[in-house]
Amino acid sequence: MIDFSLTLEQRMLQSKALEFAQTEIKPIVQIIEESDNPEIEPWDFCQSVFRKGTELGFTSLLLPKEYGGLGGKCVDLVLVLEELGAVDVSIASSYFNLTAAMSLFVTRAGTSEQQKRILSHVRSGEPHLYSAAESEPNVATSDLFCPIPDPNIGLKTFAQRDGDAYILNGKKSSLVTNAGIADAYFIIARTALDKPLGESMSIFYIPANTPGLKFGNRTEMIGWKPSHHAEIHLDNVRVPTENLLGKEGEGAKLLMLLPEVAIGLAACYVGLARAAYEYALDYAKKRVSWGRPIIQHQSVALKLADMMINTQAARLTVWEAANTADTNLQLAGMVKAPAAKTFAVDVAIKNAQTALEILGGYGVTKQAQTGKFLADASIGYSCDFTREVLRLGLVNCL
Ligand SMILES: Cc1cc2nc3c(=O)[nH]c(=O)nc-3n(C[C@H](O)[C@H](O)[C@H](O)COP(=O)(O)OP(=O)(O)OC[C@H]3O[C@@H](n4cnc5c(N)ncnc54)[C@H](O)[C@@H]3O)c2cc1C
Repeated sequence: MIDFSLTLEQRMLQSKALEFAQTEIKPIVQIIEESDNPEIEPWDFCQSVFRKGTELGFTSLLLPKEYGGLGGKCVDLVLVLEELGAVDVSIASSYFNLTAAMSLFVTRAGTSEQQKRILSHVRSGEPHLYSAAESEPNVATSDLFCPIPDPNIGLKTFAQRDGDAYILNGKKSSLVTNAGIADAYFIIARTALDKPLGESMSIFYIPANTPGLKFGNRTEMIGWKPSHHAEIHLDNVRVPTENLLGKEGEGAKLLMLLPEVAIGLAACYVGLARAAYEYALDYAKKRVSWGRPIIQHQSVALKLADMMINTQAARLTVWEAANTADTNLQLAGMVKAPAAKTFAVDVAIKNAQTALEILGGYGVTKQAQTGKFLADASIGYSCDFTREVLRLGLVNCL
């Protein structure tokens, strides 16, 4: 039997996230969105939000209680992220989803010594922001999905073994989330250049203050204004072997076992799809044309009905993927997570476009929320891999 009802604890968690999003995130987003100053550093504003969210347990939600986490499931995470994403998808995704998922990654890929050492901050409740970097400026990130076993295809950042350490050299793309503001980095580098990418990627944990780790300026994007993205330069970065996560060359396998990143991102986009729907619904009830609220014109009403139906369908896809992540990691990683991410982003883009249409000319003004919805939704297309390569990967599993 399928039971979609939430437990009392889950409903309380959802309310806590809703209240946090409305009272803490919303005012900060308003300040950042309304500022025309390109010099503004969003992290200066978002830092306090990240601290409060960490105190509420949103970044340690998935960690076992023995590490000071809440011992929650992926289903709990998506409930929280939908609420945060409804207010701002970039804060939900960049700060909370990424940190929650990478903390979980340490418990999956790390030895017990690494888990204790790297996650020691969780117990103290100190905020600890993570960044994860695979993409590079002169390499198509989609190469990560390439089935051709050609060693020349893919990432070039190289980790050379040197005694009890690796020396990393290379550059990561200007899109890397939290680059320059994070407390620690998970960097993907090749540990062999004569083997195909799938057999030569390794994952290194690198604290922010490691010598040789440098960052570019903040990248400005069409949306996601509250988040921070920049290049990472690795210039003879010495990483002790104790900071290699998993075995050398097993990075690709390990990443497949972290479907929570894509599922969490999908949940953020369900939040955006819902927000766009609710915004358009509210407008349609108030705007009068031909003597009646526009919601009473069938063509508008049907658009709103489709927005509601699609949001519901995306939510169920995400919940099912989250439930699978809690029971069958492999299936979630190969099929359910990419499917949920692709579908939720498609629905968010469609709802954002429709909301813009329902608002008529006001939809394209800066005063309306619809421009932000559309810009933020469009970014989901390529963030965490494009819908093309995700679907191509999926097809291989059919
Ligand atoms: C908001 C945001 C946050 C990001 N955060 C991070 C981060 O934290 N860390 C990080 O490492 N990276 C990050 N990225 C980078 C992101 O992962 C890549 O931009 C994304 O995977 C697309 O890769 P690309 O830009 O290199 O495009 P390419 O791989 O160059 O693709 C270009 C186009 O070609 C298509 N394409 C490529 N290959 C194929 C194929 N075989 N078949 C069909 N079509 C194909 C793609 O679908 C796309 O339309 C972020 C990106 C964004 C937008």
